[in-house]
Amino acid sequence: MHFPPDITDSRVLEAMNDVPRHRFVPRRLIRAADGDHPLPIGHGQTISQPYIVATMSQALDVGPGDKVLEIGTGSGYQAAVLAAMGCEVYSVEIIPELAEKAAAVLDDLGYDVAIRIGDGHHGWEEHAPYQGIIVTAAPDIPPQALLDQLDLGASLVIPVGPAGGLQTLWRFTRQPDGNLTRTRLAGVRFVPFTRNRRRSR
Ligand code: SAH
Repeated sequence: MHFPPDITDSRVLEAMNDVPRHRFVPRRLIRAADGDHPLPIGHGQTISQPYIVATMSQALDVGPGDKVLEIGTGSGYQAAVLAAMGCEVYSVEIIPELAEKAAAVLDDLGYDVAIRIGDGHHGWEEHAPYQGIIVTAAPDIPPQALLDQLDLGASLVIPVGPAGGLQTLWRFTRQPDGNLTRTRLAGVRFVPFTRNRRRSR
């Protein structure tokens, strides 16, 4: 897969080369899996566009041995990319069927990812602090628990904005002095961050 020149991190490029994206999409879409597009994975959810996965993985600025929390396991593809980068990955998914399927594919491919079924709004306190947190669904505001579970020097990469509308991809970084800074990374469109099991909106 070829990416625009702004993806420069070799750890990200190598991981994306290693992870077989076609294993994370429904069988009938296998041939579309090497295109740079999001694809439906059932339950109204999508596997992100590879370029966005690369952008978010690079923005997290993590490497081997770093503990990373993902909210929104979905297909498991983003989790696999982070695992291939050598990270210790924890991932929370609110739709049980997706979590179970992702766990099976990750296990089959030999990626060691811990998955929990639940509302990622509260993060995963037990393993905090994390050297990176990545959210792959868009809330209206960044959940406070996720900011609280960032290690010093770590970043939260998260799309924020209205469901179905234009959202902004932000990076919040907990500086060594404990203060938070934020940088706008891109305009994006993600599925909504739901609360308490598929609340209709
Ligand atoms: N990272 C995924 C992208 C999946 S789309 C991949 O690589 O395939 C976003 C996912 O976030 C969906 O599976 C959706 O069910 C999940 N999600 C939405 N709101 C959530 C919440 N509050 N807690 C946990 N997961 C959530």
